[in-house]
Amino acid sequence: MRAQPQASHFIGGAYVEDRGGESFESRYPATGEVIAQLHAATPKVIDHALEAAQAAQAEWAARPPVERGRILQRAAALMRARNRDLSELETLDTGKPLQETLVADAASGADALEYFAGFAATVTGQTIPLGRDMAYTQRLPLGLCAGIGAWNYPIQIACWKAAPALAFGNAMVFKPSELTPLSALALAEILTEAGLPDGLFNVVQGMGEVGAALASDRRVAKVSLTGSVPTGRKVYAAAGAGLKAVTMELGGKSPLIIFEDADIENAVGAAMLANFYSSGQICSNGTRVFVHRAIKAAFLERLAARTSKIVLGDPLDEATQMGPLVSAAQMEKVLGYINAGKASGARLVYGGARVGVQGNFVQPTIFADVHDDMIIAREEIFGPVMAVLDFEDEGEVIARANATEYGLAAGVFTRDFARAHRVIGQLRAGTCWINAYNLTPVEMPFGGVKASGVGRENGHAALEHYTQLKSVYLGLGDVEAPY
Ligand code: NDP
Repeated sequence: MRAQPQASHFIGGAYVEDRGGESFESRYPATGEVIAQLHAATPKVIDHALEAAQAAQAEWAARPPVERGRILQRAAALMRARNRDLSELETLDTGKPLQETLVADAASGADALEYFAGFAATVTGQTIPLGRDMAYTQRLPLGLCAGIGAWNYPIQIACWKAAPALAFGNAMVFKPSELTPLSALALAEILTEAGLPDGLFNVVQGMGEVGAALASDRRVAKVSLTGSVPTGRKVYAAAGAGLKAVTMELGGKSPLIIFEDADIENAVGAAMLANFYSSGQICSNGTRVFVHRAIKAAFLERLAARTSKIVLGDPLDEATQMGPLVSAAQMEKVLGYINAGKASGARLVYGGARVGVQGNFVQPTIFADVHDDMIIAREEIFGPVMAVLDFEDEGEVIARANATEYGLAAGVFTRDFARAHRVIGQLRAGTCWINAYNLTPVEMPFGGVKASGVGRENGHAALEHYTQLKSVYLGLGDVEAPY
């Protein structure tokens, strides 16, 4: 199985290779087979990409926004037309089942391109009456934006960053995760085919150092990272040293609170989606499932029964519901957390082991009787491991849900809407759901508070993060100088 791209990087509208860069491989997580070999960007390649982006940006920013939008619309249509090829590529690179990638990855990327394509031409400023005089404001692009991606939703992350950046007149240099380097190159090809001028969307490959070089380069006006909290701290510090704008989409340990009056089947379904979709490799996952004691037994029974039916296996088979983890290292990390859960006295209700000897497969795993101080209730695992905690009282569960450094997401299941809003209102999280979980339509801003992030992606909020405001004072009379 091969998915070798023409070359490692995409710069100035064309594939670029520099064999002087450290070589690395992309492996199919279901078998460990090497599917592509690439080279990390050398300083020369990084410089080439930044130069190309800088050279292209001014002309792009000067175009009527409706024209920029038209190109992004074409890109969205091309992505939809090629959804199956893009989904197969994403499945090979990430190991996520085709059943998911067909509906959630390139499709969500196309939504972002379409949404921001339409948004571009609606951006206006304000006029501010000042008596005799007046002022007006303009929303202007930031210039050159760097995007740095994680490996769990590679093409979606690339689109969620590139679509608003390009729609509002910026250029972008994007570095995918070294584990999933392929689909950003496919996106670059599609944008070029759709008519995006050369140099506006460039892809450079490599490890953390390449991301660090982008985050500290003086030509870069803004850095948007999707990644872990430790990386976020480093990238934020590097960007801060250059007084650059940032968007930080980081990790979480989000609470999902299920009250005694909740519809149990819906709550079980949501808890499974919130822990097992993409083999649990989702930043906003509701990995601390607080279940009211009155329904704990019924909830766990249905949860175990439905989890036992999950079809785990070949990601390219459309009947498969759960694939492997992205890498052997991630699998080892997740198995380590499972062992920590067992050792801490949590009750293993389902799963808890690796599956097979080939590929990075781990069973969907459920722990019950989990306490707040256990490692599996405190740290982001990024694998299919659900921790079920009991609670009795609304005030108690709110306090416990908030007792974390993270604040990415939260969910509540109850039929009592007054309670739903009251509880959500007190949860310190950037993205919340009531009687739903992990739905992230492009129309809705997405992001975290506390250590989970800075800024928002998607929705109208993205405008704030990919533009800057200029105020212009208009003197309409004589200058009244006191001297
Ligand atoms: P990492 O933080 O390890 O890496 C993210 C990206 O940053 C990668 O491209 C990585 O390169 C790069 N990078 C690493 N070090 C530096 C540095 N010093 N300077 C600049 N760039 C650097 O995250 P993962 O890829 O392991 O992704 C998993 C994490 O992402 C989880 O914590 C998850 O919660 C979070 N995430 C957050 C989301 C959100 O929207 N809030 C969504 C999805 C994931 P490389 O790895 O190639 O070396």
